[in-house]
Amino acid sequence: MKIMQNRLDRMFYSYQKEFEEKALEVLRSGWYILGDEVNEFEKEFADYTGKKYCVGLASGLDALWISFRILGIKSGDEVIVQGNTYIASVMGITINGATPIFVEPDEYFNLDVSKIEEKITDKTKAILVVHLYGQASNMKPIMDIANRYGLHIVEDCAQSHGARFAGQMTGTFGDIGCFSFYPSKNLGAFGDAGAIVTDNEKIAKDISVFRNYGSEKRYHNKIVGANSRIDEIQAGFLRVKLKHLDKLIKERENTCEKYLSKLNNDKIILPQIYSDSTHTWHQFVIRSEERDELLKYLDDRGIKTIIHYPIPPHLSEAYQYLNIKKGMLPITEKYSETVLSLPLYYGMTNEESDYIIKIINKF
Ligand SMILES: *Cc1c(COP(=O)(O)O)cnc(C)c1O
Repeated sequence: MKIMQNRLDRMFYSYQKEFEEKALEVLRSGWYILGDEVNEFEKEFADYTGKKYCVGLASGLDALWISFRILGIKSGDEVIVQGNTYIASVMGITINGATPIFVEPDEYFNLDVSKIEEKITDKTKAILVVHLYGQASNMKPIMDIANRYGLHIVEDCAQSHGARFAGQMTGTFGDIGCFSFYPSKNLGAFGDAGAIVTDNEKIAKDISVFRNYGSEKRYHNKIVGANSRIDEIQAGFLRVKLKHLDKLIKERENTCEKYLSKLNNDKIILPQIYSDSTHTWHQFVIRSEERDELLKYLDDRGIKTIIHYPIPPHLSEAYQYLNIKKGMLPITEKYSETVLSLPLYYGMTNEESDYIIKIINKF
């Protein structure tokens, strides 16, 4: 059997007719960027999260860096972020000239809340909370710290659409929630797209002006902005998919519950979930001291896996200028050497998950 790590085609074919009708509708409308589909999607996604405002953008990275820009975070400022995140989280900070201050993750792959306070200085302006792999972070202590020190909270929800902490949706705790709709994300478009959600009217307004060359009225530019607009066709696709999102997440959950109950091998550590969080399973990430052997063993048997992420941001070539040497973030580094993401996608068959489980248990 051949099993890919992800199969976006399965999701497409499940809702093929709806996507194709939406595509034709937009193509025939004669209006392709920032129009009715975008307005409706923004309303529907704001409602889904429970926030007042949503602003559609061109990508998740744009959502991050534009959020920090609008919050006034700049060169000389520090932003706390977990060491083991996708590098886009860090670029969202450094594009603005600010400095990322890395905190080690906990056993759940999210920010270790007991290690935040020791990193706070008088330059600290914000905490970027990443709900990694789809699990809501431990938000109660994070919000307590942010309130005590007067820090902004920006949430990177690129992997956590719909995940909740104590019943409240990720992206709604802090000043701004940032989302990516890259095709492989749980709420993915058929191209690049992103968005922010917020209850702050001024932030929503400023970001919607910024995304369109800093103009509210055509050719009247108030500030130097960017082009980070979202296409009508992507917004239309996202509206179709948003209607089914809870079902899409539920199915991932079923697959992962099966993994959790049936995977049984001393050489692997299964993912854990905080008692107050829900996990929407963007990835099912196991750990193994023999990760590289396991990856090859699975590959030889037709099962493709991916490492999220093999090089932590502080060790990437791009961030050598930060001068954070190997060994300075041992837990983050250990994760990069031991994590492995198993195949996981909407439409995985029982036959496929049975095969994956059987093969891993024999490793
Ligand atoms: C995907 C991702 C991003 C970036 O989103 P893009 O839409 O690809 O720019 C940011 N942070 C995390 C954690 C991600 O997984």
